[in-house]
Amino acid sequence: MSLSPARVLAALNAVRPPDQASPVMGKAVVIGGSIAGMLAARVLSDYAESVVVIDRDDLQATGGRPGVPQGTQLHALLPGGFLQLEQLFPGFREQALAQGAIEAPPAARRNYLDGRLKVVVPDDADSLAGSRPLLESLIRQQVLRLPNVKTVTARATGLVFDGPVASGVRCDVGGSPGVEHADLVVDAMGRSSRLSDWLAEAGWERPALRRMTVHLNYATALFRRDEADPEHTVVLALHSPTTSVDVAGAAFFAIEDGRWMAMMAGYGEHRPGRTAEDFVRRLREQFPPEFATVADSEILGDVQTYRHADSRRRDFHAVTRLPGGLVSVGDAVASFNPVYGQGITAAALHAACLAHYLRPGPDLGLPAHHFFALQKIVVDAAWSISTSADLALPHVDGPYPRGYRLSSWVSRQIVAATVTDVTTARRFNDVVSMRKHPSSLVTPRVILGALRANRRAR
Ligand SMILES: Cc1cc2nc3c(=O)[nH]c(=O)nc-3n(C[C@H](O)[C@H](O)[C@H](O)COP(=O)(O)OP(=O)(O)OC[C@H]3O[C@@H](n4cnc5c(N)ncnc54)[C@H](O)[C@@H]3O)c2cc1C
Repeated sequence: MSLSPARVLAALNAVRPPDQASPVMGKAVVIGGSIAGMLAARVLSDYAESVVVIDRDDLQATGGRPGVPQGTQLHALLPGGFLQLEQLFPGFREQALAQGAIEAPPAARRNYLDGRLKVVVPDDADSLAGSRPLLESLIRQQVLRLPNVKTVTARATGLVFDGPVASGVRCDVGGSPGVEHADLVVDAMGRSSRLSDWLAEAGWERPALRRMTVHLNYATALFRRDEADPEHTVVLALHSPTTSVDVAGAAFFAIEDGRWMAMMAGYGEHRPGRTAEDFVRRLREQFPPEFATVADSEILGDVQTYRHADSRRRDFHAVTRLPGGLVSVGDAVASFNPVYGQGITAAALHAACLAHYLRPGPDLGLPAHHFFALQKIVVDAAWSISTSADLALPHVDGPYPRGYRLSSWVSRQIVAATVTDVTTARRFNDVVSMRKHPSSLVTPRVILGALRANRRAR
């Protein structure tokens, strides 16, 4: 009997590393040493004798790097992702705090919807705030401490095949060609991954690419933070598509080195705050008063902008002709509208899929259909959360899933109820944070609870 997607997601959230390493392969090669690649490498260290992580950037260097252009933008670590990181790396919280990350328990987080403060969910999970380079380097440090993981600075240029199996990665190492042989190749090259091209060039099937155009404009700026222990460390404010405000949302987080990081996002022609002056003015005028406190602080450096054209997913689960010894993880498989902050948490769940797949010792010579079937459940869950909200935007024109009118009415009721009703807000947070499956919201109890809460609020 096959398990429901809700049960599979619950099982993936509960995956723990084994007490002892139990290798099922000699060498695994991960292409891409960002967050998804490092989380995959952490799991592989339990199931491979050695793990090589290839990245075109020097991963020993500190700070931002060209391979992750989104690195200057604000990144939220959802409570679900934080729980995953603590499972994979015992002591993660303490090390993160020691390196400057800021605690973000429920009472320190504030959420506004259309200017109304949402109820605080008392026993919701903790999280942390920090810059993206800090979060990434914390994960990297934990992984590179493992004795059987090493990194190679090289640009991957293709795959090597041995009959029906991917058996290695071609690389350009400082201008010289090379090959890293592997029993398992993991693509973690991010949303611009070239794996589909490499498969097609070698005569394999290319996974279907699905896109939803969102035309999101992001802008992030840093401000000096004088308060060492601010009461609220993570503050978010979203505007519904029906409001007349041209900025769709803003957030500010306390981050390391005594700074605030503030972000604003807009869609289509709305490009929020490209100059410091404009950024600060909008923070003050279009958001709740606590945003003005940040706007009144000294701005540090320039406003960094980023344009995100679309959410996209590659349907590896539907490919029938796939070589063995190959999987793909992270943004390379699915990258979503970043406003919902799902990327790191989804990557952690992809790593859990890998652990689930490798634990029974699969035949790596065969296509990893089981892995991709598990991963589809994670991708579907994240995709439905982000795309159902995006379809409500006036400039997004589909594709609409079946039953969209009803499902969008239901989600509007639930989102509205999160402002005043603790029970609905807790259920909603569990889903947004990917600890529970979206189907857990589509029950008569939840919907009636939301309707009653909205009636009371009126
Ligand atoms: C503006 C923006 C804001 C975001 N905000 C959030 C947020 O708030 N919360 C959240 O959880 N997520 C957020 N995300 C998503 C998050 O950045 C990603 O999900 C996360 O980084 C995991 O991505 P990844 O590791 O799969 O790929 P990436 O981080 O894109 O990394 C890909 C890696 O592959 C390497 N690479 C690529 N090609 C090659 C090659 N040929 N050879 C060698 N190396 C190669 C690159 O150098 C890079 O290191 C945001 C994204 C954007 C764009």
